[in-house]
Amino acid sequence: MSRRTRAAAQRSHRPGRSARWLQEMQEVSRLAATGEEVGADVRPVQPSNARKLYICPGCQQEIKPATKHVVVVPRDAPDLRRHWHTSCWLMRDRRRPGN
Ligand SMILES: [Zn+2]
Repeated sequence: MSRRTRAAAQRSHRPGRSARWLQEMQEVSRLAATGEEVGADVRPVQPSNARKLYICPGCQQEIKPATKHVVVVPRDAPDLRRHWHTSCWLMRDRRRPGN
């Protein structure tokens, strides 16, 4: 790669996108850490992948299609996957300590 081409490539790397990506990565690792506590895989579901209506086990309210949320998949029982509002999942310990 010539020096000129490399400089152009660096210029096209937009800081806005990078910051958002970093935020996503931080969220993913934070969610994964909460999953570790309960032996589950916790992954964010992007609005474009949220095509169905779910009932959140945390608040019993609807998670509407095209809403960003999380899916929680117990490692020893993948069939028992549950969709949660992101905030409900992150708040669940505060509501039910020791459970
Ligand atoms: Zn909820």
